[in-house]
Amino acid sequence: MTIPPFLHCDLLEDLGIEHGFGTRRSEEVEVPELVLAKQVHGSVMLRVPPVDPDARADALWTQEPGLAVGIRTADCVPVLLVDPMRRAVAAIHAGWRGSAARISELGVAELACSIKRDPAVLMAVIGPHVGSCCYEVDGPVRAAIPDAAVFSPSPRGGDHYMLDLFALNRLQLLRAGLRAERILRVGGCTACESTLYASHRRDGSGARMVHFVRMPLP
Ligand SMILES: [Zn+2]
Repeated sequence: MTIPPFLHCDLLEDLGIEHGFGTRRSEEVEVPELVLAKQVHGSVMLRVPPVDPDARADALWTQEPGLAVGIRTADCVPVLLVDPMRRAVAAIHAGWRGSAARISELGVAELACSIKRDPAVLMAVIGPHVGSCCYEVDGPVRAAIPDAAVFSPSPRGGDHYMLDLFALNRLQLLRAGLRAERILRVGGCTACESTLYASHRRDGSGARMVHFVRMPLP
């Protein structure tokens, strides 16, 4: 099986929005005009330009055609936001800390406010990340996230839980005002699918996958 460097969302393809959810091969491919920030597992979203390579942020957005905003993950959740009409795009990195800090919810609010749009018109695509099948967390993580419905008991029992990061980020996108039918999903569990994805949980190798989105030049 040949592993593609990036997976794509059919709907974004149809809209002509260049994007990719990285596989373990994504770092072999140079994405031109790609802006990345120093990720710190926080909830800050920054607009680019200006491009500051030392900026600390876990989400970037832009209305600059031709400029790609991206994030790196290896189990955390990549979320791409798109407003096809206002030609705005965003990339969000949401691990458990960022999700606990509600980065997806705050990111939608920030983008919608900045471009003066109703969040209901935005689209979101959630990419490959560690699934609830493989993501066991303990009491402190459970305590940091008030949404009980996104946890299930771990087979190990005790103070261990399986966390569904997809459900949590989808919930936050809905709370921020997105419509359910505009929240899409691409890819599977990074920990289960070892041929396709890098996984920090499984490999601990430091390998990352790059995810990006950009509006094309007119
Ligand atoms: Zn899994």
